[in-house]
Amino acid sequence: MKYCQGPNCHTYDTKDRKRGPKGNKVNQTRRRSSFYYLQGNACSLNCANDWFEEFGNRAVDYFGRLTEPKKMEEHNSWRKHRRWSWNDNPDTYYSYNVATGEERPISEAQYNDNNYTLNT
Ligand SMILES: [Zn+2]
Repeated sequence: MKYCQGPNCHTYDTKDRKRGPKGNKVNQTRRRSSFYYLQGNACSLNCANDWFEEFGNRAVDYFGRLTEPKKMEEHNSWRKHRRWSWNDNPDTYYSYNVATGEERPISEAQYNDNNYTLNT
């Protein structure tokens, strides 16, 4: 069991958040075995948004704020494609460079391999 990481989770007034002895129940942070939001760390989209509102800037600074634009150039423009065929011909697979329009054939295994890329 883990707690929702939303910093304001306890401030949302719902029945399931009320805990404690009868007559003295208080809203508490939700506790579950799993959550759907914030990669399993927040009980709701509200709590996920609250988390980012509170910690987002620090997280971006910590993990690396972009200070210049990323660019799509020839070396990082390869996309995998599948050419469907018919009449019992096998499908073909190829890498397509979005920047240059170049095509290079790849195998089906390479197509299905999430780690395989022509991007450098
Ligand atoms: Zn929550």
